Amino acid sequence: MMRDIYLKPGKEESLKRFHPWVFSGAIARMEGRPREGELVAVRSSEGVFLAKGHFQIGSIAVRVLSFEEAEAVDGAFWERKLRLSHDMRRAIGLAGLPGNDTYRLVHGEGDNLPGLVIDVYGHTAVMQAHSVGMHLERMHIVEALLKVMEGEVTSVYYKSETTLPFKAGLQPEDGFLVGGTQDNVAMEYGLKFHIDWLKGQKTGFFIDQRENRSLLERYAKGRGVLNMFCYTGGFSVYALRGGARLVHSVDSSSKAVDLTVENVALNFPDDARHAAFAEDAFKYLDRMGGDYDLIVLDPPAFAKHRDALHNALQGYRKLNAKAFEKIRPGGILFTFSCSQAVTKEQFRTSVFTAAALAERRVRILHQLTQPADHPVNIYHPEGEYLKGLVLYVE
Ligand code: SAH
Repeated sequence: MMRDIYLKPGKEESLKRFHPWVFSGAIARMEGRPREGELVAVRSSEGVFLAKGHFQIGSIAVRVLSFEEAEAVDGAFWERKLRLSHDMRRAIGLAGLPGNDTYRLVHGEGDNLPGLVIDVYGHTAVMQAHSVGMHLERMHIVEALLKVMEGEVTSVYYKSETTLPFKAGLQPEDGFLVGGTQDNVAMEYGLKFHIDWLKGQKTGFFIDQRENRSLLERYAKGRGVLNMFCYTGGFSVYALRGGARLVHSVDSSSKAVDLTVENVALNFPDDARHAAFAEDAFKYLDRMGGDYDLIVLDPPAFAKHRDALHNALQGYRKLNAKAFEKIRPGGILFTFSCSQAVTKEQFRTSVFTAAALAERRVRILHQLTQPADHPVNIYHPEGEYLKGLVLYVE
């Protein structure tokens, strides 16, 4: 039997509008003591069923899987949900696209599966649990995944060591749940990338910048490109294909620089236009010359939590000001923030203040966000995290 959780009076409103979370403060009482990751039923103060989902100790107490009382969370459920996700990726032309076998299949709340991320890299899927419930269900999810992706996915790598709550004492180990392969080169829009799912950040690659990398390719011709915070060198490889005059990739991590060099070599062996440097962004921007007329700034999330917001905004301002100071007249700046805690407005204000500080005349060419395989559930607008601006600097 599923345990019931009763909300305080009036706290059912957000669930009635399909928001997929129940905050711990909204709970009046629980039937017994649910274990972490257990499937629970959420009811109004009057006992009316509202939703069912995974319970977890923390500020988000329940992550909703279904708003239907009659819908069981079983093997058929996972299969149905994954099939919906796959159908959508097919409908938008990503799954099955020639020359592209890299895409996000499941994007948590954006696919009505809070706590679960699945990225597809060729025949390998990398699965990440962000909730205890998804961790406990992982083998059922894998089983459904293999059915839905039959013939497409043959290996599943599980990578949740850093995304699960430490206190839950789960001690998840990263590794293959199914299959196993050394072949970790995937294709994105005709370009090859070595995906480091073993040690890389996130699931090994930042799929969320795909469309923005593709846009950059269009502007790269003849330009001197600086790809700051290059990680696996995604923007660099697209810039090279776009006909850049030179491409410099910079990251403070020497491992990232190695990955970038490797990915450039996979696509453009011995291309003298590219060089990579392991250096701190602020130091590099301070000492660099004025060779660049296309600069990418894609820093890590400066604000992981709301308390860090002030410092984060200051960080964006300083970073962008340095780029505005050095970019050539007629230059194009691609600047991003992936901090969920930073709003679009706050990010814009930081960037515009930076432009004013550097006394540059700037126009907005594009306003960017995350791509279609990272959809935003309209009932969970918090899911929109990636913000980008493409600016023309006179
Ligand atoms: N643009 C990349 C993703 C960037 S992830 C892509 O498209 O895939 C952020 C990167 O910033 C990480 O690789 C991290 O090593 C690097 N980084 C973090 N702090 C830095 C700093 N102070 N200077 C330079 N790089 C930094």
